[in-house]
Amino acid sequence: MKTMTCKQLGGACDEKFRAATFKDMTNMSRNHRMKMAQQQDIPHLEAMDAMRDLMKTSKLMQEWMIEKQAVFDALPEE
Ligand SMILES: [Zn+2]
Repeated sequence: MKTMTCKQLGGACDEKFRAATFKDMTNMSRNHRMKMAQQQDIPHLEAMDAMRDLMKTSKLMQEWMIEKQAVFDALPEE
């Protein structure tokens, strides 16, 4: 298992996620962002907007994923 924070995954807070794979990690952070956005949490709403902009350009989105995957891969196994 590895640990990453909401901020490290394009979010807005220090909430920690623990997951065995990068895919699970991104799913957890996405669910958390959506939950916070539903509660009208401004920093997370802004983070969601930024992600939406990123997703408009598949190349940028791909680069973002590669970058975050590299961060995940570099983390020590817990
Ligand atoms: Zn968060």
